[in-house]
Amino acid sequence: MKKINVQMVDLMSQYNKIKTRVDKSIISTIESGKFINGPIVSEFSGNLKEFLNVKHVIPCANGTDALQISFMALGIKPGDEIICPSWTYIATAEAASILGIKTVFCDVDLDTFNITANHIEPLINSRTKAIVPVHLYGQSCDMKEIILLAKKYNLKIIEDNAQAIGCTYSFANGEKKMTGTMGDIGTTSFYPSKNLGCYGDGGALFTNDDKLAEKIKMIVNHGEKIKYHHEIIGCNSRLDSIQAEILNIKLEYLNEYNFNRNKMADIYNQSFKDINGIQTPVVIENSKHVFHQYTIKIDQNIRDNFKNYLTENGIPNMIYYPIPIHRQKPYSNGQILKNTDLLSKSVISLPIHTEIENSNQDYIIEKTQNFFK
Ligand SMILES: *Cc1c(COP(=O)(O)O)cnc(C)c1O
Repeated sequence: MKKINVQMVDLMSQYNKIKTRVDKSIISTIESGKFINGPIVSEFSGNLKEFLNVKHVIPCANGTDALQISFMALGIKPGDEIICPSWTYIATAEAASILGIKTVFCDVDLDTFNITANHIEPLINSRTKAIVPVHLYGQSCDMKEIILLAKKYNLKIIEDNAQAIGCTYSFANGEKKMTGTMGDIGTTSFYPSKNLGCYGDGGALFTNDDKLAEKIKMIVNHGEKIKYHHEIIGCNSRLDSIQAEILNIKLEYLNEYNFNRNKMADIYNQSFKDINGIQTPVVIENSKHVFHQYTIKIDQNIRDNFKNYLTENGIPNMIYYPIPIHRQKPYSNGQILKNTDLLSKSVISLPIHTEIENSNQDYIIEKTQNFFK
């Protein structure tokens, strides 16, 4: 088999399927002159609200802002502590640090890559104000236990749902909720490569709490309810109308996109199940998975060889994440997180797409199988 063109994230094939509608909507937004907070921004928020079955969706400029605004809205102050994973994108911790909030890093489960109540509980003290579960790679944390823990210690929950939009979690009584709608606030990012991505930056906050929603709406807009009447300190964090147009179209396809990601993941799982050296993703019983990333674990002694081999064969691949947050310069203090440290040496993510026919998945699978022969 000769080398072929494979992408890590194939936004072009996806765009080509919706090009006519997207192009038309962008032009009509420009012609309307309503670049910021146009009617499309509230139309999109309304549609996303319905999709998520949540009371309030407040759009903002990006997923990092959404986290920062959550901490502000919940009144978490300098010196307070939040508990979050180190095994996540830097934004989760950075948004707290910029406010002077102390980030207490929690280790993750080796199989699901997510924090669990068992890992969180020993870290709780009198300064702890909130837990920030991240639904990493597209799978929900085990929220039932985390919610119980938050109730027990009177803590807030902010779900970082940047990687799992469209994922559902089932409670023991059969009730199903979407990730991002189970805590006090949920946040997401519409960065282009996310499962629901725009063509620039974008983000949103979700909540079922009317009072919090009102406060969030003020914070994203300089702390004002009435123009030029600033009641609290806020920031400037808005979603552009053009991005809202694109998101409103792509939201219609989100379930299909996530379905296709699952199809690709199933094919990978089937093809790798007899390879001893590969551990395919583990999905907990209560959660669906939307495969923002398809991440496998392999022996830490061969991971980097495998990575080089893939790259040499023209197969894009990524390590999410090569350096966990507790080992990044601004945070490093010698803390050891056993599972997190091991994961940084043993994970590797393979390409996963919403347009399977252009994925060249057979090629990726054949090359991978050959490596482990
Ligand atoms: C992408 C991402 C963010 C940040 O989103 P931006 O829109 O890039 O600011 C936050 N948390 C996680 C887990 C992410 O993957």
